[in-house]
Amino acid sequence: MNEHTFVSRQSTLVPVSAVYLDHHATTPVDPRVAEIAIRMMVEEFGNANGVENIHGERAASAVAQAKDRLAQLLGAEPGDVYFTSGSTEAIQLAISHSIGTHCDPLRIAISRVEHKAVIDTALHAERLGMAAISWIDVDDKAQIDPSSLRSVLKGGVDLVCVMAANNEVGTIYPIAEIVRKADERGADVLIDATQAIGRMPLNLEDLGAAYVILSGHKIYGPKGVGALISPVFEYASIFGLQGAHHPTPNVSGIAAFGYACELMALEGEAESRRLAQLRDQLQERLKSLVAGLIVNGAESARLPHNLHVSAPGAPNDVVLSRLRGKVSISTGSACNTGAQEPSHVLRAMRLPHTYIDSCLRIGLGRTTTATDVERAAVEIAEAINDVRSSFSGVLDV
Ligand code: PLP
Repeated sequence: MNEHTFVSRQSTLVPVSAVYLDHHATTPVDPRVAEIAIRMMVEEFGNANGVENIHGERAASAVAQAKDRLAQLLGAEPGDVYFTSGSTEAIQLAISHSIGTHCDPLRIAISRVEHKAVIDTALHAERLGMAAISWIDVDDKAQIDPSSLRSVLKGGVDLVCVMAANNEVGTIYPIAEIVRKADERGADVLIDATQAIGRMPLNLEDLGAAYVILSGHKIYGPKGVGALISPVFEYASIFGLQGAHHPTPNVSGIAAFGYACELMALEGEAESRRLAQLRDQLQERLKSLVAGLIVNGAESARLPHNLHVSAPGAPNDVVLSRLRGKVSISTGSACNTGAQEPSHVLRAMRLPHTYIDSCLRIGLGRTTTATDVERAAVEIAEAINDVRSSFSGVLDV
């Protein structure tokens, strides 16, 4: 069972005993990673931009080591790593850079199941007259429709945005093939690898994408740190800021992110195997306890820790409120205000509204045990079955 704690303003520790299965939203910081972050904050607190003294030099070398660790995990060049406050900022930098280096407006192609961080940035650029969007369709498993990709590329594109794996239904995309096809048409590619990092093999040198996006808090690192990896990126291309002041790096967050990557390099493969087994057990158990349970996404090419289901007849907001304090899962489609909106991913997959209204995203993680899975299966099934019986006859299923 996971034991997480909440530190209030008064520093009172309130234990939360709910099983945490929302690892696509965020992951708990690995204690080994937290130890690095604390040491960097307390002991290695120098300014990595101020390398005129030993403290600054040590901070700068911690940032350099973190770049090496990211590069090592992903087969990238350390010099291509730019740290950001997370994936959202990295996406905005990459798209802004692409706008800055192409003739106006940027012809940008986006799969319909991209994260809102990509979609909203592109829509904003389009409203400003800086981008023209073409949409790449997906099938009912959220897989890219090859004919839609072909026709979009044929129409002329400067930048293609696709994710390595979907943050809702877990579908994994053939990114190497997409980069190759885009390259044949002279288009750059932005790969949002936020959910994929450490959970599937990624070799950026072989991939040859112009921009790759990562975030620390999805791999047991701290929140508020991420990276853009790009062989083409330069700050100066966006803002003309050649030689201007660079912000003071978040050294503790960066060092912790780097260490989280090292742990993924060492343990990610075994962890993924273990989680895929537990996920399969959970799927089978839920299917046995909930009549007519639907598994969404591509079961044959899916993130190992992802299980996305629909239970028609059980509205997901009601199920989640029944599970509050017992099992933490999500719908996966909450917007920035925390409100549940119908998922744009499931809508792009053209799933029936009864599947969309009842979808649940379950994400396993490093601390998830077989006991957690059994407890979660029983609680989730009970919540769904209760909600179904109280809504039976009320909803058009
Ligand atoms: N892209 C994907 C696929 C995500 O899952 C997320 C976060 O959920 C983001 C981008 C945004 O990441 P961040 O929270 O680091 O800004």
